[in-house]
Amino acid sequence: MTIDEQTQRDAIARAGDRVRALSLSLGRKPTACVVTFGCQMNARDSEKLAGILEESGFSIIDDEDADFLIYNTCTVRENADKRLFGRLGAVGARKKEKPWSRLAVCGCMMQEELHVDRLKKSYPFVDLIFGTHNLFTFPSLLDAVLAPENAGNMIVDVWDRTDRILEHLPSKRKYPFKSGVNIMFGCDNFCTYCIVPYVRGRERSRRSADILDEVRRLADDGVREVMLLGQNVNSYGKNVPAGEEAAYGSFPELLAGVAEIPGIRRVRFMTSHPKDLSDELVETIRSHDNIARHLHLPLQSGSDRILKRMNRGYDSAGYLALCERIKARVPDIALTTDIIIGFPGETPEDVDATIDVVRSVRFRNAFTFLYSRRSGTPAAGFADQVPKETAQEGFDRLLRTVQEIAAEETKKQEGSVGEVLVESVNENDARLVTGRLSDNQLVHFPGDETLIGQFVRVKLCEAKGFYYIGQRVQGSDAVH
Ligand code: SF4
Repeated sequence: MTIDEQTQRDAIARAGDRVRALSLSLGRKPTACVVTFGCQMNARDSEKLAGILEESGFSIIDDEDADFLIYNTCTVRENADKRLFGRLGAVGARKKEKPWSRLAVCGCMMQEELHVDRLKKSYPFVDLIFGTHNLFTFPSLLDAVLAPENAGNMIVDVWDRTDRILEHLPSKRKYPFKSGVNIMFGCDNFCTYCIVPYVRGRERSRRSADILDEVRRLADDGVREVMLLGQNVNSYGKNVPAGEEAAYGSFPELLAGVAEIPGIRRVRFMTSHPKDLSDELVETIRSHDNIARHLHLPLQSGSDRILKRMNRGYDSAGYLALCERIKARVPDIALTTDIIIGFPGETPEDVDATIDVVRSVRFRNAFTFLYSRRSGTPAAGFADQVPKETAQEGFDRLLRTVQEIAAEETKKQEGSVGEVLVESVNENDARLVTGRLSDNQLVHFPGDETLIGQFVRVKLCEAKGFYYIGQRVQGSDAVH
């Protein structure tokens, strides 16, 4: 155990003493709630925050009226910011009735000074603010914010960078049968519209031995599907300390190592960057049946002029050729993507170029976004911002094409049988369960909660746009 790890372990023990004292004064076990905004990286960070709170003695609940409330924020688009401030208003009033309660705010938004200043000025009832770079110091911060001498004093601890990664932090997984696994943090790509490099810092990879060790422990603990997480997983193992390359290896090597761990029935990963995706990776997917037949490959735009202004590092011909190579080597793979409409300087002809690429690649699905101006990014300063109505017009045209093609591609598998990992009872119809195929498509079929966490063979009876209604194949065993 490193010094850092020991320091945080000791802090959890001290926080535990404070939670026990609080429990005596409340006459019950104190509760904690972690609210997550944003991406899967944030969701995995929140599992660590919940793990630390639980190990300190809190019982984790899904209710913002908890004794300890923490918002793990996102700032990738404007509406993410608004959602936090919308929530804080209500919390302030509740806190007056519960003077022992504590409120913390962390995550990407807190890496931006303008947001921290706004909290200091307008939300003085926030007890703790910290960022993405020092999430691993949460045990020490928790101990400090629970200390009676700090009651009413806002603790602000935001680092502007770090090169440290802390292993073996407790975590409380949302799902017992699947888990996200961070393989790296940060991003060095600086796409001109993106705030991530400014709030998540420079790329730093975890050692492959630590990642493989974590996946083995997860498999021993009943996890059957892992999602390898990074802002750009294809640059895993790059920019590592000189002479230590062997302790990391390449992403394809890591992916193969994870796929070969006994008990791991399905491996997913995101996010890939087209400029760094190697043929070696495609061959690794091809040679391992348990690597998901789904690849998320953000395009962002199909216009070479716009791709250049976005600093994406590839052009539409290169992107199309890459997709052709992938499909040729892994024919059953489903490609999905991200697309931004309304980037500064974009014309209707640029949107046409994007739609052309969508028509050529025939994505199984695409996450489409209206450009969101993020202060601090180069594109925010571009003079030729696109009027909202023009952007919306382009967005609607694109969405029609995306949905049309997704429905046609989904239809192609109708009548076939696929293996579904059941994730939950269907939210809208309790007689159905919901799960995902290897290609990440959703399937709803008759079943009950005993199937959750199981792999089940399902006939895809009816395609419904982005998902299927299915029927369990008679006599097929549910496999954990
Ligand atoms: S690759 Fe580009 S879009 Fe993705 S996180 Fe990095 S800077 Fe942002």
